Amino acid sequence: MAHIIRFTNRCTEQKEQNRITCGCCGREIPAYPSRNARDYLEITKKWGYFSKKDGETHHFYLCEDCYDKWLENFAGPVEISEDTELL
Ligand SMILES: [Zn+2]
Repeated sequence: MAHIIRFTNRCTEQKEQNRITCGCCGREIPAYPSRNARDYLEITKKWGYFSKKDGETHHFYLCEDCYDKWLENFAGPVEISEDTELL
């Protein structure tokens, strides 16, 4: 549990310092306003009673490359929708 709390705090610190690292490959993900800014996946999951992690909140970032590799292992495609207005 202590490991999980420390990890969650690290994610928050990374965001505050604008130095986000991928939880899978460990590489830093350049964040806005960097000219090389890349988007990333951020997941926060609070596990509930019907899990083995009841009461734990897991939080991590994934770079787009690791996200794509992760999806290659899925049994089926993810649902994709597109915004009609891009800013
Ligand atoms: Zn990565």
